[in-house]
Amino acid sequence: MAQSRVLVVGGTGYLGRRIVKASIAEGHPTFVLHRPEIGTDIEKVQLLLSFKEQGARLVEGSFGNHRSLVDAIRQVDVVICAISGVHIRSHQILLQLVLVDAIKEAGNIKRFLPSEFGTDPARMGHALAPGRVTFDDKMVVRKAIEEANIPFTYISANCFMGYFVGGLCQPGKIIPSTESVCLHGDGNVKAIYVDEDDIALYTIKTIDDRRTLNKTIYIRPPQNILSQREVVMAWEELIGKELEKTSISEEEFLSIIKGIAEQEFAQQVGLGHYYHVCYEGCLTNFEIDEEEEASHLYPEVAYTRVKDYLRRYV
Ligand code: NDP
Repeated sequence: MAQSRVLVVGGTGYLGRRIVKASIAEGHPTFVLHRPEIGTDIEKVQLLLSFKEQGARLVEGSFGNHRSLVDAIRQVDVVICAISGVHIRSHQILLQLVLVDAIKEAGNIKRFLPSEFGTDPARMGHALAPGRVTFDDKMVVRKAIEEANIPFTYISANCFMGYFVGGLCQPGKIIPSTESVCLHGDGNVKAIYVDEDDIALYTIKTIDDRRTLNKTIYIRPPQNILSQREVVMAWEELIGKELEKTSISEEEFLSIIKGIAEQEFAQQVGLGHYYHVCYEGCLTNFEIDEEEEASHLYPEVAYTRVKDYLRRYV
């Protein structure tokens, strides 16, 4: 069977660039949306050119020009969107409604993977405001996809290692300290950490797989289901030293979120996500079937372990 042709939207992003790389590596004819709006952003242009050198095709299209999106979509079989969705960087999740309209009109797409790649929003109806906006917006996009009868796969990728492992699960930190760490409560709540390149590869593996059609696929590499204490311990083993530990209780953490000024909206959103992951255990407090789990579906992927990821900071 011929490999599906893939269009990556948001291919210049933190995750998107890895999806482009994985798509090319897996042998898919790969198209990357080039938005004229990036203007004189030389870094993005250079990145797009590097994709071209690796064999990708750049297709021009704009979210402000429906026809251009339809024309881009008609050249491929699968659309993967990795548009921004982190408030500390940029949050454009609802822009995907424009993409959904274009996919609907084009009528040829065998699979659409919207920009999800985190906590399963369908399980976050109870989430704290204002952080719940991420989940609410992703659910609005899901509803539009399903109402348009567009075949889909939703990827629940859990925690990006760069943010969570790099910072030993502490918000606002992305480099591990060799001195101290602040634990969330007793630090024993389990979360799930996934290397961003592995997320991209698992994502690409799903696109031509009938088992993943119209499903949510969770990435839960068994050896990366760890508590904050276990992540810290892996780091301590690597540096041969115990960190000084303090702790912040659930009540204190919640009062910090409430105390943040409204203008610090992005920070409030981020802390809300950490609350659900690190205190509530929202990534691990439910069971899934093996058939919904990426490392079970694709055992050939040699995923990165937390300790190996941390090794790069030593
Ligand atoms: P980025 O912030 O790196 O942005 C990705 C792309 O968004 C950019 O390449 C850009 O494309 C596009 N974009 C930004 N603004 C606009 C706009 N106005 N119009 C059109 N396109 C725009 O995204 P991330 O890689 O950080 O996030 C991707 C997904 O991953 C999100 O859904 C996010 O929620 C999730 N995520 C999950 C995390 C986790 O720990 N589970 C952590 C971080 C993200 P262009 O080059 O064309 O401008």
